[in-house]
Amino acid sequence: MILQMAAINELKEHYNIDVSELKKLPGDVDYRNIKYEVAAKEGEKYILKIFPDKDELDLAIEETWLCNRIAPLLSFKVPLTLTCKNDELFFSSSEGPAKILHFIEGDFIMNVEQTPALLYELGEKTGEMLHALKGINSPLIRSRKIFWDIQNAELSFNRLQFIREDETRRKVHYFLDRFSQFVAPKLRFMRHSIIHGDLNDHNILVKDGRVEGFIDFGDSTYSPVVSELAVACAYMMMDKSDPVEDVLPLINGFCRVYPLEREEIEALPEMVAARLCISLCNSAEKRDSGVDNEYVLISEEPARELIDKLIEINPLRIKERFLEAGGFDFGSMRNRRERILSVRKKNTGSSLSLTYRKPVYMTGAAFQYMYDENGSAFLDTCNNIPHVGHCHPVVSEAVSKQSRILNTNTRYLYDTMADYIERLLEYFPPGLDRVFMVNSGSAATDLAVRMAQTFSGRGHMAVMEHGYHGNTLTAINMSSYKFDGKGGGGKPHNVIKLPLPKLFRGKYATGEEYAEEAKAILEEGKQKGVMPAGLIAETVSGCGGQVPVAPGYFKILQPYLKENEILTVIDEVQTGFGRLGEYFWGFGMHGIIPDIVILGKPMGNGFPVAAVVTTGEVSAAFNTGMEFFSSFGGSTLSCKAAGAVLDVIEAENLRGNAGKVGTFLKGELLKLQKIHHVIADVRGEGLFLGVELEDEKGNPDTKTSSLLINRLRDKNVLASTDGPFNNVIKIKPPMCFTEKNAAHFAGMLDEFFSGSG
Ligand code: PMP
Repeated sequence: MILQMAAINELKEHYNIDVSELKKLPGDVDYRNIKYEVAAKEGEKYILKIFPDKDELDLAIEETWLCNRIAPLLSFKVPLTLTCKNDELFFSSSEGPAKILHFIEGDFIMNVEQTPALLYELGEKTGEMLHALKGINSPLIRSRKIFWDIQNAELSFNRLQFIREDETRRKVHYFLDRFSQFVAPKLRFMRHSIIHGDLNDHNILVKDGRVEGFIDFGDSTYSPVVSELAVACAYMMMDKSDPVEDVLPLINGFCRVYPLEREEIEALPEMVAARLCISLCNSAEKRDSGVDNEYVLISEEPARELIDKLIEINPLRIKERFLEAGGFDFGSMRNRRERILSVRKKNTGSSLSLTYRKPVYMTGAAFQYMYDENGSAFLDTCNNIPHVGHCHPVVSEAVSKQSRILNTNTRYLYDTMADYIERLLEYFPPGLDRVFMVNSGSAATDLAVRMAQTFSGRGHMAVMEHGYHGNTLTAINMSSYKFDGKGGGGKPHNVIKLPLPKLFRGKYATGEEYAEEAKAILEEGKQKGVMPAGLIAETVSGCGGQVPVAPGYFKILQPYLKENEILTVIDEVQTGFGRLGEYFWGFGMHGIIPDIVILGKPMGNGFPVAAVVTTGEVSAAFNTGMEFFSSFGGSTLSCKAAGAVLDVIEAENLRGNAGKVGTFLKGELLKLQKIHHVIADVRGEGLFLGVELEDEKGNPDTKTSSLLINRLRDKNVLASTDGPFNNVIKIKPPMCFTEKNAAHFAGMLDEFFSGSG
């Protein structure tokens, strides 16, 4: 109050202004300047700005000069500083050097309807301002380096940690990473200028539906010119139903006045996202340090929502629309699709199959979304290889960095394999402490079978009906899914096949009965002098149609296996790494400890890495004198990738997420089962679920399953089927799948089965 009194007196003294009211305005916590709105008795309004900080004062002097220089060149207003009675632009107030600005009347653009015409005009005015700024040279502004400046977005990497919500953090990381990889290296070759730098929705004033003025040049920097547009786009895209389409008039208007070059526009989408990321990192850090300033946190929610939307939009679509708005042709990718199809046809075998009647040509992916060449984005419900999410930046970064440092094989010593093995074994019970690294689930199966056979000196193996363990000769021989399936040669002579202990439409109602049957089959062989080296099995049969092995089966069978020195070989390629939610491994769910475990698929998030985990005893028996070597198995790089996957599983609590979202989704599917008779069974755990379809006669409904996945594909959802009749929808999405995704997927199924989808 005393300060305000002093200010009132000072304004009278220096400007002859009779103050009727002085209202303090909110400010950014990063700046120390103090702002007041001043109402004068004559009805005029002003802004009083006080600069207690010397550096800020220097900048304010520069800003004052800048605005005075460009104002005459503009068709709209920028803040102009009044001169004091003594012809100075600043005066000494009791709180520090201060100045008075003319008040620009109008509403903040955030508070008015942002019509296409208004956004077009905003674009034009932004372009006009850039023209005016072109001739300005300010060494002080040129030397500024601030984190808000998009070209410095990488400064926000180390503030990611403050974003508490896993979902937001991973997306912000993703967009910062894209900026860093694809845009930052190009920016310095683009046109630069002094720019306003902060055309956010608080700094744009609108009067009578027209742009009245831009305020607050306090974030002016010397930056790529396209940054100016990117900041405005970022804020104008917030709170819009279709942010990409809605912002086009802004780009259009800007480019009419200030034509951009093709690569400037191509950088725009990533720059927009980067600005949102900067804002989110800033809000998170401020929140973390206890700041609860409305002005600082105001954009947090809309920025987060926009980042959410952006990940669900194919970047090609954004690029195409932005280019068109800037007057460029995006071009068609049609020829490329044809070329790919032709090469596959001419130069590979037709045993490579494609999903969907109209195969999808993928051009990108992020987490649980995949992007095609036509600008569509798909929700991925069935790819379990990108376990922690497609293109997760933590994994990409780890691989990319390590590939620049060292990638060698197990004949040398290096850290990453030892680091990984130690970490991996923390997830295993004591006893399972030997790890052999390979590069595919098939190679792991091959090795596991070889180990079992070496251990016992027996050549036979027991397998489970419908099981799948890989594509090598040995793995095919272990896979009833293959040898009993199309083109298969039938059960090999050294394989004993056990029925799949399934409860749905099963022969028995309990795991115990199935276990007894398995024992009987093995016993029969024993009588004939045939004992297998091991039993290789999944705990939930993936290719068999997402069939969980009946509870109790392994527990009851294992003592018999042990008695007869038959090793339990559990294939965790599909079920492992937390996918089941509560249990990190499927064998944990069955309360058994296997002798050999096969790992693959999710282990490297798409990077080829797999392993066999076994006991010291089995490992010792395998040491026959023959060297075990794999060129890529256990390579520096593959172990780095695998380590990054564990990092993400832990950092984002993806196992917890699989449990939570899986339970929610299963609940939704069970609700659908009650309404739609075609859904005969809903089963599975965590994010490893199956929906089995049957027709009215109770026969497998392969036709509807195929129709369904093709229809879903047309509706931008990737789903897939499996099982001996291809009538089971297999649900095994990237582990970052959300409840929102699950609800969407269930909604799509409902729509389809209701006949409206
Ligand atoms: N085991 C299981 C259970 C699998 O699902 C697969 C692959 N679908 C494999 C092994 C073979 O893995 P890969 O394709 O990496 O060789």
